[in-house]
Amino acid sequence: MYIGKYEVVVIGLGHAGCEAFYALSKMGLKTLGVTINIDNIAQMSCNPAIGGTAKSQIVFEIEAFGGAMPFIADKTAIQTKTLNLKKGPAVWSLRTQNDKWRYKNEMRLFLEKCPNAEIKQGIIEKIIFDGDEIKGVSFHNGAQYECRAVILTTGTFLNGLIHIGDKSYQGGRLGDPASTALADQLKTLGLKMGRLKTGTPPRVDKRSVDLSVLEEEYSDPLRRYFSKSSAALNLERIDSPCYIIRTNENTHRVITDNLKYSSLYSGKISGTGTRYCPSIEDKLVKFKDKESHRLFLEPEGDDTYETYLQGFSMSLPEHIQLEALRTLRGFEKAEMMRPAYAIEYDYVHPSELYASLMSKKYKGLFLAGQINGTSGYEEAAGQGLIAGINAGLHITGRPPFILSRTESYIGILIDDLVTKDTDEPYRMFTSRAEFRLSLREDNADIRLYKYAYDLGLIDKKTFELINEKEKISGELIEKIKNNFIPPSLEFNEKLAGHNSCPITVKTDYFKLLKRPEINIFDFIDEYCGLFSKLGYGDKKNDIDFLNYFQTMVKYDGYIKKQQYMIDQVKKYDQMMIPVDIDYEKMINISTEGRQKLIKYSPMTIGAASRISGVSMADVTTLFMYISLMNKKNPVEVK
Ligand SMILES: Cc1cc2nc3c(=O)[nH]c(=O)nc-3n(C[C@H](O)[C@H](O)[C@H](O)COP(=O)(O)OP(=O)(O)OC[C@H]3O[C@@H](n4cnc5c(N)ncnc54)[C@H](O)[C@@H]3O)c2cc1C
Repeated sequence: MYIGKYEVVVIGLGHAGCEAFYALSKMGLKTLGVTINIDNIAQMSCNPAIGGTAKSQIVFEIEAFGGAMPFIADKTAIQTKTLNLKKGPAVWSLRTQNDKWRYKNEMRLFLEKCPNAEIKQGIIEKIIFDGDEIKGVSFHNGAQYECRAVILTTGTFLNGLIHIGDKSYQGGRLGDPASTALADQLKTLGLKMGRLKTGTPPRVDKRSVDLSVLEEEYSDPLRRYFSKSSAALNLERIDSPCYIIRTNENTHRVITDNLKYSSLYSGKISGTGTRYCPSIEDKLVKFKDKESHRLFLEPEGDDTYETYLQGFSMSLPEHIQLEALRTLRGFEKAEMMRPAYAIEYDYVHPSELYASLMSKKYKGLFLAGQINGTSGYEEAAGQGLIAGINAGLHITGRPPFILSRTESYIGILIDDLVTKDTDEPYRMFTSRAEFRLSLREDNADIRLYKYAYDLGLIDKKTFELINEKEKISGELIEKIKNNFIPPSLEFNEKLAGHNSCPITVKTDYFKLLKRPEINIFDFIDEYCGLFSKLGYGDKKNDIDFLNYFQTMVKYDGYIKKQQYMIDQVKKYDQMMIPVDIDYEKMINISTEGRQKLIKYSPMTIGAASRISGVSMADVTTLFMYISLMNKKNPVEVK
């Protein structure tokens, strides 16, 4: 018997579940969020940090949809840095080190206040179906609730098995039970499932480390935020240092001498691990010649001695972990507060899903996060957002919302998952984006705000603010092309200070800002003097705006070129593929893509792009190849 009724039940309140829950609440759907332990909502199971390369772009996209992660990450940041500043703006990536406890507490309090939505602690053992339709969920204590859609976001919990040395025991992560009954039910549903593995390093008591011999790293001088709301609040700035450490010959000896005791190398673990975030055992085996590996000691909070040793994840027995740890300089007397461990868990192959993240077999069943084979909080949150939106649209009888690869990293992530599937933990990289100069942090709001507004996820005021950013930037670009600075001794001295050639004739501000060595922040008085004259003096302290504006000027030509390519890709969706095309000749197409193209012989570029296994990169190559073939004859467009 059902004891309550909801429209959607979100199973799991990790990073995916939280975003799904919040999106549904804003869309006005009666939602229930269920989690095994209410005190561990949005728990950071591994690294206490949000953002970083390619992941920050996802966080900014979540912000564009008014999501929860960006604001909570800003509010609980204890160190902020923008990575890759020496490279181009496509890869600039904000990263916050976070207070792990404050993050989860803030998120819990935030979700508790969401309208239309309730949270319950419990373990869901079964989803109740009638044929291929969802009817409700059943708790471990027998309680049943009716619902029309379910979003499964169970992370590493399905049949989770923790490994430390030769010991293994069931667990969803250290301190939480595994989810076994639900895992068993999923198998009976005929969903294709697999087994993956991940790991985490030891947590070290900071008081036991001689920090004075370690290299310190602090925040950037300029504070940046993921969320516009945080920027407006001017939050208190905390700056806890991280420390850089290097492994040495002794560390390598202790680990390699004891490999046979590692869960990973003794053959106990069958799940596939992440290639991109290998354990220290893996690094030493695969990169034998490397004399040293860099590690980071990162605070887990501002008010705790517990620290996270990034780069030192392993599955050796605890006493060997301690021995290896104590070989590090400054760690001679180190004590661990929690050991490193590896975890194996079940996942559902994402090829079981549509791009809306709904199951192809069961209507109203959505999956998001690590259950789909991904790794990382941001990847999980991005999927949670889309699953939440689509569950809401499904319930209200509207068509699904799909983000394309040309407009977002979240689109790339989901497209990769559902078209290529994955048999190893998937994480985001900027190299996965074909048009990454167009998918930057600074323009995520402009790329996505219209969708967010139409879906009811951002309010009118936010919509107008973003609209204004786009409009003013466009206007100012035109204006600075027509405003000139005359040569003067004083100004040329300033240019010389930035290794920039003097100006000998009056020069427009656009040309000046296009110089690679000129940074708007160094010349802010000149530009803001001009902005004030034009009525936009308030932009002087708007870092988000200035970053966007500067990138639009400096990369003007490249951005326009890329936009042209994107438009072409969209436009030529209907381009016919010649029947006699020889895919074997296209060396830049992936092997899988080529096999699928030969097998399915699609008629148009659009049809080719929708074949599972044919990536956007393959489609772009195909498009260019056909364009070349058609050079003498006009390209056929329906
Ligand atoms: C040991 C370990 C190491 C990791 N290492 C890395 C790493 O190096 N790099 C990286 O990027 N990521 C790493 N991660 C992954 C990162 O923690 C996840 O990618 C991220 O948390 C996934 O978010 P999620 O929302 O999918 O799931 P989770 O954050 O795991 O949340 C799952 C939620 O589901 C709930 N739940 C599960 N089963 C049920 C049920 N039956 N009923 C009700 N609620 C249920 C849980 O209570 C929890 O709230 C690691 C995770 C672990 C555990």
